[in-house]
Amino acid sequence: MDFKKLHQFVTDKNLPQFREKQIRRAFFVGLANDWNEVTVLSKDLREELEREIPFSSVKEERFFKKKKDDSVKVSLKLENGDFVETVLIKHKDGRRTVCVSSQVGCSMACAFCATGQSGFKRDLEADEIVDQVIFFARFLKSMDEKVTNIVFMGMGEPLLNYDNVLRAIKVLNDKEGFNLGARHMSISTCGIVPGIEKLAKEKLQINLALSMHAPTDTLRGKFMPINARYNIEEALKAVDDYIRKTNRRVMIEYLLIKNLNDKEEDAEKLSEIFKTRSLCYINLIPYNATDSKFLSSPRENIQKFANVLRKNKIKYTIRHSFGGAIEAACGQLARKTWKT
Ligand code: SAH
Repeated sequence: MDFKKLHQFVTDKNLPQFREKQIRRAFFVGLANDWNEVTVLSKDLREELEREIPFSSVKEERFFKKKKDDSVKVSLKLENGDFVETVLIKHKDGRRTVCVSSQVGCSMACAFCATGQSGFKRDLEADEIVDQVIFFARFLKSMDEKVTNIVFMGMGEPLLNYDNVLRAIKVLNDKEGFNLGARHMSISTCGIVPGIEKLAKEKLQINLALSMHAPTDTLRGKFMPINARYNIEEALKAVDDYIRKTNRRVMIEYLLIKNLNDKEEDAEKLSEIFKTRSLCYINLIPYNATDSKFLSSPRENIQKFANVLRKNKIKYTIRHSFGGAIEAACGQLARKTWKT
């Protein structure tokens, strides 16, 4: 919901300020589905609000789910007709993670990512980001479950939509509202240095992840155009500074693409970079198929790569890939539209 609009409405109509609080509660805590369910308000007022303020920036939704997969993808049609995709990941340990989009499309054009290939349309407003989370919060409520984590790993580059992303985080963080701790939220960036620097100065406990994907600039530059603007050294300098200021661990994402960046020699170079960076840990991501020319690394290569990291005492995890069956996995979200 657009709470700026709501505030204006409450002011214009000379309503008591507590009405706004009641509506926020019904929205973030009660997880009401529409104005009709905000029963603390009179019927007349609800009807007026229904006419004036959309309850959600999501106008329509379409679900994608397969039985054998534990994730759910939704394609959301926004008020202005744009489409975004959002994913709910159900982890075996009970976590319920919402992977949100921060932009309609993406301007970063990473060669391996479907979003990057679909181009950029616009930044999402803070309420459009929040509504993606609330959408799944309502969905989970019907099963007596809750959203436990949020990752900005959907469509878009969150640090290029800094203000709206931060606003959304603060709204979701609000103790009197949705009340999700910043420690349960993660931002993944392809390495927007000024954004990382700014984030380091916020007094937030949020988690940061850097999409690195290659140990050298020559290799990284081949498939991540952003490397020409901020190279590995600059991105890592910002990460080091972030760690110094926040004392938080930072995840280094490393996508494994067959015969491109998955050699043992690459793992050695990567180890060299991270052997002194004890608060960084590598997250190896098996490549998910998109329309691009790239192929996933065979399991054997992933294992060999991981073994080199282990030998060099580099902390790492291997990302379990969810959602491949419904094109909901990392890098597979796109600006797909639907009419019928
Ligand atoms: N713009 C942000 C968020 C992107 S998505 C960023 O660049 O970090 C989150 C992660 O998925 C990123 O690390 C991204 O590089 C990775 N990713 C992109 N395409 C992928 C693919 N086809 N398979 C697996 N991971 C992919």
